[in-house]
Amino acid sequence: VKRRAALALPALMLGAGPARAAEWRGTPQQGALLIGQGAQGQRLALDGQAVRVSPQGFFALGFGRDHGPSATLTVNGTPRPIAVAKREWDVQHITGLPPAQVTPDAAALERIRVERERLAAVRGIDSARVDFAGGLAWPARGRISGVFGSQRVLNGQPRQPHYGLDVAGPVGTPILAAQSGKVTLAAEFHFFGKLLVLDHGHGVNTLYAHLSAIEVREGEEVSQGQRIGAMGATGRVTGPHLHFSLSWYRVWLDPQPLLSA
Ligand SMILES: [Zn+2]
Repeated sequence: VKRRAALALPALMLGAGPARAAEWRGTPQQGALLIGQGAQGQRLALDGQAVRVSPQGFFALGFGRDHGPSATLTVNGTPRPIAVAKREWDVQHITGLPPAQVTPDAAALERIRVERERLAAVRGIDSARVDFAGGLAWPARGRISGVFGSQRVLNGQPRQPHYGLDVAGPVGTPILAAQSGKVTLAAEFHFFGKLLVLDHGHGVNTLYAHLSAIEVREGEEVSQGQRIGAMGATGRVTGPHLHFSLSWYRVWLDPQPLLSA
């Protein structure tokens, strides 16, 4: 992959010398996506679940926000323990949201349920693409206004953690594809407002929410850095920003360690 050299994340080795089984970029910690390459034809499983390996040996592994302190990566049938570092998560208080946004009514709850299923379906896509191996680029310019993993308290009520990175800026700020991929969802949702999901292969996907405009269609192929929409304030927001999420299958991950400072 062309961009591999540009990513200077630490590589860890499993095994030694010529018997090297696999190496990856990224730190095994809660919320991490590890992008790896091993021998061609290598068989991998994480905690007993088979992991897709491309013909070139590329693979992706993810550890969720609340992953326990260890995982087992099985390489060609041999289990190897991986220590998964614990992270501390912020608590973020958000006040001033309209009550209907914090406690949706019955009709909104049904809509939210249907949308959640639709999103789960696209996040579960397991394609053979290997775009993910090139890492991620910033999807927008702006100020980081929210980080991954924060425990959210909305109008004083605890809610699920924040599973994205927020970048605030003016409405209309260009939104760029963080990596090449295929548009698997282009829709308007209750919480996310106008949103896009891109599939980068092997379960790795990125989500762009609260857009003011969507400029690509479902099924379209996009390339890294291509403009796909514009920043906005649609859905449940207190101001214009991009909510940018990364996931590995249905496990939300932190995109920030993959982005340049
Ligand atoms: Zn957000």
